[in-house]
Amino acid sequence: MPLTARSRRKRSTRILLTVLSGLLPVVLGSAILYLQAQRILQQSAAQTAQQALHQFELMLDNTAEAAIALLPLAGKNCEEVKLALREQVTRRPFVRSTNLVWDNNLYCSSLFGQFEEAVDAGDYHQGKLWLMNGNPVTPDTALLIYRLSDGRGGALTTLDGYHLSNILRLIGRQTLLMLQVGDNWLSADGKVHQGPLPALPVAHTLLDSGRYAFSVSAGFPQGETWRYMTAEFAPLFSLLIFFGVVSGAIGHFVQKRSTSPSHEMLRALEAGEFIPYFQPIVHGDSKQWSGAEVLMRWNHPKEGLVRPDLFIPFAEHSGLIVPMTRALMQQTAILLSPHSATFAAPFHIGLNITASHCRDLELVEDCREFLEAFVPGSVQLVLELTERELIEPTDITLQLFEQLQAMGVKIAIDDFGTGHSSLGYLRTFNVDFLKIDQSFVAMIGIDALSRHILDSIIELSAKLDLGIVAEGVETQAQAEYLTEHHVNFLQGYLFGKPMPAADFIGALTHH
Ligand code: C2E
Ligand code: CA
Ligand code: CA
Repeated sequence: MPLTARSRRKRSTRILLTVLSGLLPVVLGSAILYLQAQRILQQSAAQTAQQALHQFELMLDNTAEAAIALLPLAGKNCEEVKLALREQVTRRPFVRSTNLVWDNNLYCSSLFGQFEEAVDAGDYHQGKLWLMNGNPVTPDTALLIYRLSDGRGGALTTLDGYHLSNILRLIGRQTLLMLQVGDNWLSADGKVHQGPLPALPVAHTLLDSGRYAFSVSAGFPQGETWRYMTAEFAPLFSLLIFFGVVSGAIGHFVQKRSTSPSHEMLRALEAGEFIPYFQPIVHGDSKQWSGAEVLMRWNHPKEGLVRPDLFIPFAEHSGLIVPMTRALMQQTAILLSPHSATFAAPFHIGLNITASHCRDLELVEDCREFLEAFVPGSVQLVLELTERELIEPTDITLQLFEQLQAMGVKIAIDDFGTGHSSLGYLRTFNVDFLKIDQSFVAMIGIDALSRHILDSIIELSAKLDLGIVAEGVETQAQAEYLTEHHVNFLQGYLFGKPMPAADFIGALTHH
């Protein structure tokens, strides 16, 4: 059906809308998945940081206990207490060494015994913790030193960085995890760095220990959210693409459906797809061509040539029939007027009009323009109004028909015999022709009753002095019968089918 096959929207717009409706679920779904992935990564970073913080605190508890146990020994002779220092190293799993301080001077060490080294409290973050990149014994191994002091005495206990980086590596398997003490920080590779922490653009979490002077940072590198989505949500993505295809198809279908017939016809009108076909009308006696009826065809780009009964009702309903008829008249004038000088007698041009044309006086102007295109007096314009759709005699309609007649335009009642126009009606509108419906012509020689009606119509038109046209003449017998009964004009396949302008103009010269 041509009225649903194409949209009035531009092709590019339709494609765009289809693509958009296809993308909508994919984009929306991806956005939801993105937020979900962000939430999961955030939770994972927070959890990892929490676990690492807990482990570090347990280790520091170990070193703190050793320091607490040794602090009372500070100031005592190293030879007397060095075994106590070594005992703590042996008993506490995370303690690597223990040292005693007096007056900011490390004087006794579990490793070397008697010793001399200045201690600067400023090295220790909050005076408590120092994360350093090794010492002379193990230059490249990170070391965390816990400092406890009381008056002139103090205890330093150290924690091997190997344990710390192990935690960073094992707990933060998927996460970037760092331990920060003051300006220094330790990464999972066991290296101590100085300065600000590297940026963690995704799900950055920073947790401060409530008990010791350190913090833990966790997070992910740039692009981790998408990496996580592709790794974890692959089946959901397939589902989204499926929904996208379904939604795109629905979008496409709805657009096709939502295209109203009148929109489609307006598009066709603008594209000049409504073209005239011409069917010859001949004289009843001589069978010479006396004129033609203009019949509209829709030259549809996809459906081919469309019959008028499939689209004229829609055109009437939407009011588009008026501009469509105007376009048809303009095309007819352009096609036939170059030949009008060769018309011997006034050439009858029949045009179908509807009740919509009779609501205002626009038709008068259209007819004037039409007639002006021809050599004056070379054509006789006949407006055909079907009997099934008779118009009310209002001020406007009466004025319209008066002005048309004044211009020399004739009126024919089409499909006569199928409606119920009265004699009064025919007089009110000053009808000039009756076109006998083809159903009566078809019954010639077949149905006696129909033939009776036919005879009375012919008789009536003679009495009223109306011209008479018989439609749908297909056989020689029908033509002979009508000629015998003095029907003025004949129209039907016997004399010619409706044909395109080029064929009609070609044949015109022979007749
Ligand atoms: P209509 O005005 O009664 O036109 C005559 C119809 O009968 C035409 O059909 C024509 O092709 C067909 N016909 C002619 N001779 C024969 C024949 O010997 N045998 C048979 N079986 N049919 C024959 P078409 O062209 O399909 O038009 C159908 C109807 O559409 C027209 O009936 C008319 O009511 C309407 N129409 C066509 N063009 C226009 C137009 O421009 N404006 C309006 N408002 N209606 C139009
Ligand atoms: Ca007609
Ligand atoms: Ca008819």
